[in-house]
Amino acid sequence: MSKYQIVKEEIVERAQELVHKGFLMATGGNISLRILGEEAFAITPSNLDYMKMKPEDVCILNFDMEIIEGELKPSVEAGMHGAIYQARGDVNAIVHTHQVYTSALTLIGAAIPSLFDEQARFLGRSVEIIPYGPSGTGMLKNKVAKHVQNHNNAYMMKNHGALIFGHDMERAIHNVAILEKCALAYLLALCTEKKVSKIPLAVREIAFAKLRKDQKKVEAGDFELGGE
Ligand code: 13P
Ligand code: ZN
Repeated sequence: MSKYQIVKEEIVERAQELVHKGFLMATGGNISLRILGEEAFAITPSNLDYMKMKPEDVCILNFDMEIIEGELKPSVEAGMHGAIYQARGDVNAIVHTHQVYTSALTLIGAAIPSLFDEQARFLGRSVEIIPYGPSGTGMLKNKVAKHVQNHNNAYMMKNHGALIFGHDMERAIHNVAILEKCALAYLLALCTEKKVSKIPLAVREIAFAKLRKDQKKVEAGDFELGGE
């Protein structure tokens, strides 16, 4: 049996969980997990129905994009996932979705300012829109790699979808849900054409400082994070 069996099983279970929760549809989006202790990651194959996916379909790649295990073609966004793991030592799980409300905001170029405490605590100071690059291209990968250096854990990709991080997949999936709630609330608020209020700057900074503290702990190899 493959030494990556457990991580492959987690990829399939989590991808199907995201389908059940309505964040992944059909074959859109992709998810990955860092292989701890190696310069490698596990990622969903390209264009395969998540509900038909089996652990042996999951691809294991190194940071040079060489296939270590897997018969199927890796996600077209594998290069982007690899670049994120190299840029962000605190990120061990990546989810890319085409979730609807977040995708809608990318169409009108509306970055999400700090609207809620939990948003600043878990997603970062704001949810920015990364400029457009066609799916699966080096152009998109390079734009993403540049933006993620500001330590936020959620981004939008112009006319495409969402990109969400966590120190593990459970956290990343919670962050997917927080992002979609923020996007829907922001869209509804924008529709009223009234002024949209933000949380106080000082509160945002305290919450973001807690996120940064967690990230530094993870980078140092300590996974016991503070819950607040
Ligand atoms: P893959 O099926 O190759 O992962 O592509 C889906 C996607 O979302 C591209 O951005
Ligand atoms: Zn996509």
